[in-house]
Amino acid sequence: MKINYLYVCERKLWLFDRGIQLEENSEKVLLGKLLSEYSYPSETRREVLIDDLIKIDVMGEEEIREIKYSNSLASANRIQILYYLYYLKMLGIERKGIINYPKMRRMEEVSLTPEAEREVEQAIKRVEEVLSSPRPPEVKRKSYCPKCAYYEFCFG
Ligand code: SF4
Repeated sequence: MKINYLYVCERKLWLFDRGIQLEENSEKVLLGKLLSEYSYPSETRREVLIDDLIKIDVMGEEEIREIKYSNSLASANRIQILYYLYYLKMLGIERKGIINYPKMRRMEEVSLTPEAEREVEQAIKRVEEVLSSPRPPEVKRKSYCPKCAYYEFCFG
């Protein structure tokens, strides 16, 4: 989740890490959870928690899947699944990644190329840098701020 938030907003990442977790009340997050729960009912290995650290929506023999409500934050979705692939590789498990957008009837394939691995490593480093700061990053308005669960917190 932290890697995903890094690509969404560094301030959100910092707030979330410090225990200010407002997403649980977010309608959008709830819709995403419901979609994940009821999509692909034939898949048996769902919500697979590994090392209490990553939770994979669907774990297949050859691929892992993440189910997303929309692709409005596609780069954050992509780095999240890349991180999962990276983490699995460290455990000796090789898979390809698929991001499913059931509402849009779209899917995106993601592979852990050497470039993607470097991207993940840079992201991990950046997460550590952001979280080591004693103060949250400044508010920087983005187009999707009004839809963010932290909007009132940042702009209220
Ligand atoms: S409202 Fe905007 S600035 Fe505040 S946490 Fe959300 S995305 Fe970041």
